[in-house]
Amino acid sequence: MGGPMRQGFLTEEEKQNQPKVTKELLLRVFSYLKPYWKQLLLVFVAIIASSIFSLLPSILTGKIIDEGLIGRNFDALIKYIVLSLAVTLIANLIGVLESYLNTWIAQHITFDMRNKMFQHLQSMSQRFFTSNNQGDIITRMTSDISGVQQIITNTFTSILSNSITLVVALIAMYQKNWILATIGIIIVPLFTIPTRRAGKTRWTLTRESQACNDEINGILNETLSVSGQMLVKLFGQEKREYEKYEAANRKMVDLNIKESMAGRWFRVVITTFTSIGPMLLYLVGGILMMRYNHDLTVGDITVLVTLLGRMYGPVNSLLNIQVEWIRSMAMFTRIFEYFDMPVEIKNKENAIVPKEAKGNVRFEHVEFYYEPERQILKDVNFELESGHSIAIVGPSGSGKSTMINLIPRLYDVTGGAVYFDGIDVRDLDLTYLRKNVGVVTQDTYLFNGTIKENLLYAKPDASEEEIVSACAKANIHDFIIAQPDGYNTVVGNRGLKLSGGEKQRLSIARVLLKDPALLIFDEATASLDSISENKIQEAIDPLIDSRTSILIAHRLSTILAADEILVVKDGKIVERGKHQDLVKKDGVYRELYETQFARALEKEEAVLE
Ligand code: ATP
Repeated sequence: MGGPMRQGFLTEEEKQNQPKVTKELLLRVFSYLKPYWKQLLLVFVAIIASSIFSLLPSILTGKIIDEGLIGRNFDALIKYIVLSLAVTLIANLIGVLESYLNTWIAQHITFDMRNKMFQHLQSMSQRFFTSNNQGDIITRMTSDISGVQQIITNTFTSILSNSITLVVALIAMYQKNWILATIGIIIVPLFTIPTRRAGKTRWTLTRESQACNDEINGILNETLSVSGQMLVKLFGQEKREYEKYEAANRKMVDLNIKESMAGRWFRVVITTFTSIGPMLLYLVGGILMMRYNHDLTVGDITVLVTLLGRMYGPVNSLLNIQVEWIRSMAMFTRIFEYFDMPVEIKNKENAIVPKEAKGNVRFEHVEFYYEPERQILKDVNFELESGHSIAIVGPSGSGKSTMINLIPRLYDVTGGAVYFDGIDVRDLDLTYLRKNVGVVTQDTYLFNGTIKENLLYAKPDASEEEIVSACAKANIHDFIIAQPDGYNTVVGNRGLKLSGGEKQRLSIARVLLKDPALLIFDEATASLDSISENKIQEAIDPLIDSRTSILIAHRLSTILAADEILVVKDGKIVERGKHQDLVKKDGVYRELYETQFARALEKEEAVLE
């Protein structure tokens, strides 16, 4: 009975472009259940047993009335009462076992799924994180996967136990009296009318509220993050952000009220039908007994009414499950969508792991774009030999950071190739490559922890001496020991308790600890005060001398320290050479020199004096 009704309902829903419940989707969902098939089998048996056991008291009621009360047999009365109580107790005990197993399975499946998702997300490229909303990613990790747990504990078992209860109740009813059983069932299909409508509205509302939830998460993530709040404050946009949040929040309230009311009206109709059923059975039963002298007993009618009562619940749940089922399938679809996103940057089969890294880099006809319609790098060629250093200069947005991102494969080239020690980086083992390429980014990221914890991130087994020596080289050791907690000073959320210069020196120390063959330094454009700049400079200069390095430079002293200067403009290397030669030319470098470096130089000289 549940079958055809459910199907009709689903087709209706499917027309509203619901997720396609394909065989593949179901098989995929079930593949997550597979490792737990033994426990599932046990749950299955428990559900069958508890469904049957919980229906038995209803049937025993007939015996209590007919044999015990009307037959005035006290022994029989006691026997059936005790039996009925015992059966109820057993049914409930089995129910406990079933819930435990259920929760256990659901928890383990979501545990597997979460881990797999986390691992998958970590393997996604930088492109994925820059182009996807952080709120969406977090929602999928948290609520969608928790939803799956709900599905397993509620939806799946509810479908199973309700279907079994229905079938058993039906059989029992037909055994008692086919006329009354049929009458009882005829009323049931009337449920479908309100259910269809309620289901449809609830589905649309659920979708809307999910979208709204994503929106709210997005707003929270953007405005309540450290840098977000700073932006809001500095631009005095609190009111606008509040209004934006309030609007989304209000929309959510409306949607939630509508969603819960859609279910409420549905229940009114159901309750009305539920009370019509028993009355109809009493009426028809009475007519059969009194007018037609049918051998129906009072007990039989009572059993039929009780069984009918037991049926409405499962029918109600099964019909409600339509919505939940489709919602669950949508959730699975959303999760699988993420799983199916290809891992753009991954280890090649038989990736090469050379014995020793020297740090040579060669760009050969490198082309790159983030989006096909906008080429960023065009035919970039250069070579950096081990022990040497290169400074990359150029106007903002010319593609300097993009160039260096290609070396540790944060992105892959779209044309040409990048070689590390003569091997195409795409052929190298990723772990090896990233271990040997150290990057100090412009935007230094520190975790909320102590200075030491942040340093150890680069090398978990670093000794005390190594840490101190790295910090001394990075010109930050003295600062650290001057702090009351020394190396155990907490850096604050994203390191915001430190100044820009201190953060950058700390991140230099962190990279030094990693001791990579190639050091890439993306000098912060943010202007620091001259003293901080000087401290950084003192940290960088010896590094450049002793290491193979690429520096995206904004300060003349950094540029001068490099063996070669590459001038990048609009994604192309337009000039290259030494400072003295480049300044003489009337080109991009000269212009940059006059507008930026010379001024910076004056500042530096002022400090030195
Ligand atoms: P700056 O000196 O200001 O840091 P840059 O020379 O390092 O600039 P890049 O960061 O390499 O410049 O950016 C080059 C171009 O690529 C810019 O026009 C930028 O808008 C674009 N771009 C950078 N990152 C992305 C991204 N993730 N998706 C799309 N476009 C991007």
